[in-house]
Amino acid sequence: MDADGLPADELFCYLTGRRNEDIPYTHILSSMCTIPHPVAVKAHNQFMDTNLGDPGLFPGTASLEDHLIRWCADLFQAPGAGGCTTSGGTESNIQVLRFTKSVNGIKKPNIIVPASAHFSFEKACGMMDIEMRIAPLDDQYRMDHEAAAGLIDRNTCCIVAVAGTTEYGMTDPVPALGKIAGQEGIHLHVDAAFGGFVLPFIDDAPAFDFSIPEVGSISVDPHKMGMSTIPSGVLMVRDDHCFNNLLVETPYLTTKQAYSLTGTRPGASVAGAYAVMAHLGKKGMKAMVTGCMENTRRLIEGMEAFGISRRVTPDVNVATFEHVEVPKPWVVSYTRNQDLRIVCMPHVTRDCIESFLVDFGESYVPHTD
Ligand code: PLP
Repeated sequence: MDADGLPADELFCYLTGRRNEDIPYTHILSSMCTIPHPVAVKAHNQFMDTNLGDPGLFPGTASLEDHLIRWCADLFQAPGAGGCTTSGGTESNIQVLRFTKSVNGIKKPNIIVPASAHFSFEKACGMMDIEMRIAPLDDQYRMDHEAAAGLIDRNTCCIVAVAGTTEYGMTDPVPALGKIAGQEGIHLHVDAAFGGFVLPFIDDAPAFDFSIPEVGSISVDPHKMGMSTIPSGVLMVRDDHCFNNLLVETPYLTTKQAYSLTGTRPGASVAGAYAVMAHLGKKGMKAMVTGCMENTRRLIEGMEAFGISRRVTPDVNVATFEHVEVPKPWVVSYTRNQDLRIVCMPHVTRDCIESFLVDFGESYVPHTD
């Protein structure tokens, strides 16, 4: 920091320059975040200074969090479910491992995750000295539930399934995993950070939520397909007693105990998430998801017309293909198997897909062996 401060106009001139160095969303095809809905931005700004870490000071903001949890409970088919907001999928997944690790007094805990699990589980296991056992995937990139069953022992404290995998957009066989978890008395967590705001709005989507009796918790992120501002996650639990063993005393706050991982917690992005759902309703969310899924199908059809095969037909709006390079300025990503991966988020409009396909077609030179 310099000794003398910068005048605001100079400061914002500098900030605008830095912001202009960022890649615009118009060409980002790799992200699971998106341009927030305008109502989310407006609500975020309105609640900018609120802190849900001390909810007694902000009862109005806290009531929005309660509403959001009730809506997610309804969406995931367990009206009595509890939950809380977090900073995103990573924090939600960490919280699940914190409370599952502390049950049953297991000394050397392990968890079972699919090979497709998000790297947040590796971080969480590292932090908590939990062994992460990796179950292989089947040929449709879904967790092999029989292999998962074979990895369980008496120290297993959690089975993780993913609904809408980060890389291939697939949903694990949650009903089959539920049966296994139920037989063994193990907590079943569904990481629906991405798919949680997609699958409920698709007809005939694979089952993943609390309608499966053994599902104990679900992560879902408003800052992904909920079109809210960053950071915004939700952790839903079938029975909120599971938070009890995370409680710590918070003597100098308005509430005397807290189970959240972070202390100060933004109310702004919670208001943003609330605003999107209140404004769009289920019909608006379904229309948004339908558009993203149509665009995903159009992208797959367009790439296949160039002879680039899909890796799999996804359950959500993540399209993957055999490895090919794409022209600049498009920003795509590649999976750990080096497959091309494109996420058809709300900002990836039909026009965007069509111009990507035109640019790709002009640059693509097919292999001749
Ligand atoms: N889980 C899944 C399935 C994800 O796709 C992601 C991120 O893409 C996460 C967890 C982590 O979410 P965050 O980056 O919000 O912490």
